[in-house]
Amino acid sequence: MGIEEKLPAGIFLTTVEQVQGWMRQASFWPLTMGLACCAIEMISYGGPRADCSRWGQEIFRASPRQADLMIVAGRVGQKLAPVVRQLWDQMPNPKWCIAMGACASSGGVFNNYAVVQGVDHIVPVDMYLPGCPPRPDMLIDAVFKLKKGKVQHTTMGAHRVQEVAELEQKALA
Ligand code: SF4
Repeated sequence: MGIEEKLPAGIFLTTVEQVQGWMRQASFWPLTMGLACCAIEMISYGGPRADCSRWGQEIFRASPRQADLMIVAGRVGQKLAPVVRQLWDQMPNPKWCIAMGACASSGGVFNNYAVVQGVDHIVPVDMYLPGCPPRPDMLIDAVFKLKKGKVQHTTMGAHRVQEVAELEQKALA
C-alpha cells in the first residue's frame, strides 16, 4: 500500500498550509497609510523605542503591490476614500486591515459629511484599535492578536474565497 493510501485525504495540503501560515505571521509588510495624527504613533511603532521589527512586524512598504497589511492611521476624508479602496485592491492576497484609532474605526470626533464614518465602509477591517490616538504598544498588541487570531490560520482556500467575494463586490458596485 502506498503512502497516499495510508494517509487521510488532504493531510499533506493541510500541513503545508499550517507551515505557510506560521511563516507568514512572522513577516508582515505594512503599507504606509498615515492619514492624520494617529500616523505619528504608527511612525513611533516603527521607530527605535517601540521597534516593531523585533517581532517581524515590519517592513513598511510604499507600494501596495508589496504590502499585506493596511494600517489605516487617521480619519479618511470622503475625497480620499476611492484612493484607499484602490490601494486595497492593488494589494495582493492574502491581506489584512487594521483600523487604527477612533477616527479610522468610526469617524471619531469628526461626525460630519466630509469624513468617512469608519473605514469599514470602504475596505474589510480585521481589527479595530480604540484610542485617540492609540499608543505604539497598543498597535504592537493588535498585530499580535491579528497574527494569532487570523493570519496563522488563513488557508490557501480561504484566500480564494476572499478573492471571489471581492470580485463579486466589485461586480455589484
Ligand atoms: Fe487624530 Fe484622534 Fe483621530 Fe487619531 S483618533 S486621527 S489622534 S483625532
